[in-house]
Amino acid sequence: MSNLKMKEAALIYLDRSGGLQKFIDDCKYYNDSKQSYAVYRFNVLINPSDIVELDAELGNHILHQPLKAAQVFQSINIVLKLTHLPPLPSYCLDLCEFPRDYTSQRFYTMQGIVIAMTTVTKYTQGARFLCSDEACPLSKGFQYIRVHVPGATESATVRNDFLCNLCSSSLQEDRKFRVLGDKQIVEIITAKSLHAFQGYCNNQPFRFQSLTVFLRDESVNKMNIGNEYKVIGIPTCVKISQTAVCVEANSITFCIPKVPSGISDNFRCLLSLTSSSCWKFTAILANIFASQIVPPGTYNLLKLCLLMSLVQTSDRSKELENCLDILIVTSDTLLIDRLLNFSINLVPRGIRHSVSTEIFPTLSRNKYGTGAVSIQAGSALLAKGGICFIGDLASHKKDKLEQLQSAVESRSITVYISGKKFGDDVDQQMTFPVQCSFWSFLDMDSPSRRNIQKTNMLIGQMDCSLIPANLVESFALLINCNESSSCHPLLPTVQHTLKKAIDPEGLLYLASKQFTTEDFEKLLAFAKNLNVEFSLEAERMIHGYYLASRRIRTDSIYGSKLSASALKYLVSLSEAHARLNLRNKVLKEDVLIAALLFETSLTLKYGAAVFCVAPNAVFPFEQYNEEYLEQRDVFLTECQQQLQQFIATYGPGTAIFASDE
Ligand SMILES: [Zn+2]
Repeated sequence: MSNLKMKEAALIYLDRSGGLQKFIDDCKYYNDSKQSYAVYRFNVLINPSDIVELDAELGNHILHQPLKAAQVFQSINIVLKLTHLPPLPSYCLDLCEFPRDYTSQRFYTMQGIVIAMTTVTKYTQGARFLCSDEACPLSKGFQYIRVHVPGATESATVRNDFLCNLCSSSLQEDRKFRVLGDKQIVEIITAKSLHAFQGYCNNQPFRFQSLTVFLRDESVNKMNIGNEYKVIGIPTCVKISQTAVCVEANSITFCIPKVPSGISDNFRCLLSLTSSSCWKFTAILANIFASQIVPPGTYNLLKLCLLMSLVQTSDRSKELENCLDILIVTSDTLLIDRLLNFSINLVPRGIRHSVSTEIFPTLSRNKYGTGAVSIQAGSALLAKGGICFIGDLASHKKDKLEQLQSAVESRSITVYISGKKFGDDVDQQMTFPVQCSFWSFLDMDSPSRRNIQKTNMLIGQMDCSLIPANLVESFALLINCNESSSCHPLLPTVQHTLKKAIDPEGLLYLASKQFTTEDFEKLLAFAKNLNVEFSLEAERMIHGYYLASRRIRTDSIYGSKLSASALKYLVSLSEAHARLNLRNKVLKEDVLIAALLFETSLTLKYGAAVFCVAPNAVFPFEQYNEEYLEQRDVFLTECQQQLQQFIATYGPGTAIFASDE
């Protein structure tokens, strides 16, 4: 096909797609601008499907030789912006596969999670050069124009050793014609590499192999740390201290995770069998959950809380309110560690923080030498929309714990970039939302803890000294998990451990065969995407309990122990219980479970209060057959009445209360 025919097709495409009108508008913008430009830059939006339909050869040319194809559009600096690529394997660049094609300079699509990004700096879009010999005809006019092409470094566009073709004198840049654009460098990794390290606890330092993506002009600030994106771009090889494959982004789209259309048949059957009760389904779930790690019937309270925290993880970007942070006090750290590692694997973003890495973002100078500062994500931002399991709370240094507390309370983290340190004129700061739930545990048997015994403990209160009280308070749920307590009988756990030692891969219980890990994964993915709303009754009950609790847990010196976030946690817990029941409506029965869990946690933090809840109130029995489930429902109904009585006595509307809120 002749070049002329291709130009004709390009013109027809521009005409039909509205590109010509956009071209005219862009020209107007340049015409009105006071600045002198060496180069006019135009973006042309290309829909590959439409263009292939119109002219197959031009379409093919754009997809496979994009740099040459831009010339068909007849201007100096044309950037073809693709809406998408054909969904064919040959257009995908798998970040796990080697070797990577960086020689053919064509478009590929790739998908990855942002683990680092730089601040925005300038680059040269285009520059005008003149021959330094005034007698040479090329010392005037626009004969030497240099334009940035995808994948080129700054020195390819602007340098001081270019020579005149006519007289070999050196070329000098006419600075007032230089056109600058914005540039940002991000690093992405494939989501698969996160799975490889999920639940993997090794204290050896490691780093994910990342791919560098250059964002320019309108693409700058389109990517956020922790999010997953589809990027269309042209791979290229850049030589820095070592040679690296990079991609210059052409188009960026946010990846929306797939939601499963349903749950497994066995769970569906279980749900319908238990439909008469609001409490049975979740009780059975907690009972059989993680039977690979602990025998059914043990650690039920903790397992219910883990499931509720998992179901409150969110792929939707803007929800910060849902987080359910859990702190477990235990003397059996090995088992708890295993249980938590197992659980984080059930959501796409369950990150096991390794002590050799950082929880929160860190700064470094970026290796491409552009003066920009690179911000590395850290575990918390990588766990965006998921769980960040940070292991033993006491293993973190004091300053990190302070950072953690501030992040948990504000759900954001701010990074200060000192201009002095990174060679910039001004200080900068960047704030990132922290959209994950934190899980951690405290070892009650650690030698440093055993010797100290607080003397003035209140009934039911837990001794968490050595960890700042404010930090313990900032976790939504504090859970006591000791095998010696009545809720955690020792014998089944011992039997389980022995059987596992004999047959590590074996499924020990009927429940593990009927409800597999994949079934739980699917159930959680389905449940967490349910939109839930509160019934009026449930809403009243939450507010009633919150206000009543605030009032009875107030002392004259420090005011109320219940912060405003308590209400947020109660809402999140109630939602979680409704979601785990696969219900769209939050009922007062869900609020009861939320209140019991929250009150148990409050008792551990501050001691028992008027609304007295036994540590095993949510799971009063050791076994869960049909008969016990029925008895538990009767027991919980009584609890519900007590809660209503408590609200009626101490809640809003009672005389003493009027002055408080
Ligand atoms: Zn010359």
